[in-house]
Amino acid sequence: MNLELSEEQAAVQQLAEEFVEREITPHVIEWDRAENVDKSIVKKLGALGFLGLTVDEEYGGSGGDHLAYCLVTEELGRGDSSVRGIVSVSLGLVTKTIASWGSEEQKRAWLPRLTSGDVIGCFGLTEPGTGSDAGNLVTKAVRDGDDYVIDGTKMFITNGTWADVVLLFARTNDTPGHRGVSAFLVPTDTPGLTRRTIHGKLGLRGQATAELVLEGVRVPAAALLGPEGKGFSIAMSALAKGRMSVAAGCVGIAQAALDAAVKYAGEREQFGRSIAHYQLVQELISDISVDVDAARLLTWRVADLIDRGRDFATAASKAKLFASEAAVRAANNALQVFGGYGYIDEYPVGKLLRDARVMTLYEGTSQIQKLIIGRAETGISAF
Ligand SMILES: Cc1cc2nc3c(=O)[nH]c(=O)nc-3n(C[C@H](O)[C@H](O)[C@H](O)COP(=O)(O)OP(=O)(O)OC[C@H]3O[C@@H](n4cnc5c(N)ncnc54)[C@H](O)[C@@H]3O)c2cc1C
Repeated sequence: MNLELSEEQAAVQQLAEEFVEREITPHVIEWDRAENVDKSIVKKLGALGFLGLTVDEEYGGSGGDHLAYCLVTEELGRGDSSVRGIVSVSLGLVTKTIASWGSEEQKRAWLPRLTSGDVIGCFGLTEPGTGSDAGNLVTKAVRDGDDYVIDGTKMFITNGTWADVVLLFARTNDTPGHRGVSAFLVPTDTPGLTRRTIHGKLGLRGQATAELVLEGVRVPAAALLGPEGKGFSIAMSALAKGRMSVAAGCVGIAQAALDAAVKYAGEREQFGRSIAHYQLVQELISDISVDVDAARLLTWRVADLIDRGRDFATAASKAKLFASEAAVRAANNALQVFGGYGYIDEYPVGKLLRDARVMTLYEGTSQIQKLIIGRAETGISAF
């Protein structure tokens, strides 16, 4: 694997870096305190092609490979994980899944609008009673003539109140476990679908996380994505690639923690010298630096495997597991470098730690990643 970026990759990285400095960094504290990212960011992300990365130009995508996608995600994660999550979910989990599994009609109906940022998507898998055990979800879609009628509740849905379409997973027959699950594309203005913003999150405060309640939501059979009964495979294939994007966002958090810690250590003086002179402070910075490099290399390996058409699911779990735990460690170490100032939200590192904390929980907890990796190594499933 060549670790040198191509001209195109370096250009897209620079574009993302400049976008973050111009459109995100000046607003980060304000959005976090207000629990609300300015929604106009979505159109700006679309205009630069960041919501269409890896998607065919024929459907409005901006093409590019998965390393370019990682580079953009990392930069957005360095700026604000709440914005990074918009892309990881709308592009990573919804748009790319429609591109892989959608009919020609579904691709033409949704992809150009999703990639331009005219509309935004959310991914509805988790329910109040089923998180890690998503295959046992209870939301039901019952066939009624040419339609399906859907009833159930979805929990913790990123972009939930902003989204125009939800990629929704529901049970279409009574076969227990994941075999009875199907995937649907449900416009969020369909009668019977209501949304409630979830407030009080530890981190990702600017992000629109919601509970979705579906009561007698009627959709045409054409809303089914992929074959009936294949929904769980569709969800798992989306999440496997999604884990690369979460990992890249975590690299961004760790890099932001490193940059902030190095800068502050050089400026802050105690005992007559900058604290960067003290070896115990250098140890904190050195630990962050190693975490950044290791997490980035594991993440880039996933991009390389996907682009070469190789198996990547276990590598994606390893990258997500390591990078998410590394982001928490890195932000925590950076906060230590900042001393008491790190605990105040005028400085960036407290938010990095709060935002990092969810990364070991969503898109499969660290425990679930370990079970996936353990199964790949032993051939024995613990699920
Ligand atoms: C901010 C945020 C955004 C989210 N966005 C989305 C979204 O857009 N779409 C979506 O569908 N979901 C989303 N989620 C849900 C997220 O994916 C789930 O929270 C996650 O999968 C864990 O499920 P749970 O919270 O029900 O925890 P549980 O599954 O109840 O787990 C609780 C604990 O038990 C452990 N555990 C569970 N099973 C096992 C096992 N077999 N072996 C060992 N340990 C186990 C877990 O690791 C964890 O430590 C989001 C969550 C948050 C917090």
